[in-house]
Amino acid sequence: MTNRREAEAVAPKATSFIGQDEVPGAGEPLAFVHPGDGLVYAELPLAGPAEVDAAVAAARDAFPAWRALNPAARRDLLHRLAGVLREHSGELAGLVSLEMGMPVRASVAGVTQAAEWFAHYAGWADKITGGTVPVAPGAVHDYTVPGPRGVVAAIIPWNGPVIALALKVAPALAAGNCVVLKPSELAPFSSVRLAALLASAGLPEGVLSVVGSGPDVGERLVGHPGVDMISFTGGDRAGRVVGRAAADRHVPTVLELGGKSASLVFPDVDPARAGKLGLVLGAVQNSGQGCFLPTRLLVHRDIYPAVLDAVVAAAGEVRIGDPFDQGTAMGPVVSEAAAERILGVVSAAASRGDGRLVAGGARVDRPGSYLTPAVFADVDPASPLAQEEVFGPVLALTPFQDEDHAVALANGTRYGLAGYVWTADLATAHRVADRLDAGYVSVNGMAGLPPGAPFGGWKASGRGTEGGLDGLREYLHTKNVHVQLRAPGGARP
Ligand code: NAD
Repeated sequence: MTNRREAEAVAPKATSFIGQDEVPGAGEPLAFVHPGDGLVYAELPLAGPAEVDAAVAAARDAFPAWRALNPAARRDLLHRLAGVLREHSGELAGLVSLEMGMPVRASVAGVTQAAEWFAHYAGWADKITGGTVPVAPGAVHDYTVPGPRGVVAAIIPWNGPVIALALKVAPALAAGNCVVLKPSELAPFSSVRLAALLASAGLPEGVLSVVGSGPDVGERLVGHPGVDMISFTGGDRAGRVVGRAAADRHVPTVLELGGKSASLVFPDVDPARAGKLGLVLGAVQNSGQGCFLPTRLLVHRDIYPAVLDAVVAAAGEVRIGDPFDQGTAMGPVVSEAAAERILGVVSAAASRGDGRLVAGGARVDRPGSYLTPAVFADVDPASPLAQEEVFGPVLALTPFQDEDHAVALANGTRYGLAGYVWTADLATAHRVADRLDAGYVSVNGMAGLPPGAPFGGWKASGRGTEGGLDGLREYLHTKNVHVQLRAPGGARP
């Protein structure tokens, strides 16, 4: 599916999916606006407290049978769900582009990648094993049993809803948990549609429910006594609120939060290519609305002028346009409120003198929430522009003198999500990768969230892991069983 009309036609008529059905919410009514044209495509109530309670109750009811399911059957079912994602990738991608304006080529890639996450974790479903512990061989049999935590509250942002969903739902289900998913109020429809597709492919009633709504419903969900674990992706501020609520009940959490990641460009790379890639990865991709994008471009002073020229030239050539147009490289930002906020950040940074605004940072003259990518040169590393996440198309360039300086700049924020190293020298690459305070480091490129590779932030970017075996373990707890082989008063067997 590639056009807005078709996407609108398949958009669910409800913001929640509970048990086996789409459920009209009893919360606040909301007008849903497509950021690509500024027009309302749906007016529906959001989920309210009653939907949260019903979804948690459905998950609790479903949990005993789901956890007891033969692991081979769970594996096969998850493979079937991966197939459903592939089969419906056009439809789901169309919904993502409608909801939040991601160019359709990128949203198809995101849904295809989400299918990979289900396939990857299908493979783990029948390989979750414990071990034996050599406490006192012959006298004691001591062993461990990994088991699901129970009902997982999964809260996701709007900036890539289907892939964000897969990062949590696939490992949670593979481990035998049930999930209540809360997508953002800005982008609930791809989640509701996906839950309905998975239910019709055989996912049992209540194993995955969706409550599409805002922060108030998120707070009710994380505080719900029927929730055993929270996996949250979102901003630093909401992450703190969620973390505190979880601490109140001693509920385990995964917190995937924001970032202010840096690219470190060393002088042995082609400045023209580094500049173009720096702009595309940091500010054009998803209109700069990505947690782990390299939004700071740190460049060795010898090639800084050439890289800056290349960034500015590339900024003038970006194909900004309708997200449903296959040729679009950069769509709108998610909403009018986001556009206004980002323009405010740009003008405040320019007037404070955080750096020199050398390109973009303006509205595009067409209906919808379109901005040109803003490029700031000579950015003061201590300024708000270098320290705070913008979550929009804004790139900050700063020169560095040598490796120590580059690493100090890269590590000099409260975040620790990702780092990018650009060099032809292997020794520099590995040494700098080792020195960066970041959960994810990429050398000479950017990976598209491969499911086997663990991903997670440090410092204010959160805690816990998504992806691979580390990501699966978040959704399991370990029971230790200690068996004295001699019964009280009895003889050793
Ligand atoms: P947000 O924090 O405003 O909202 C994220 C989700 O949390 C939404 O579903 C929202 O309704 C919910 N929420 C907000 N306040 C809540 C509360 N008090 N209690 C419970 N739920 C609450 O973020 P956003 O604007 O949707 O997304 C952008 C942020 O997400 C950025 O900071 C970005 O870096 C971050 N993000 C992080 C990752 C990662 O993997 N680290 C990935 C994507 C996005």
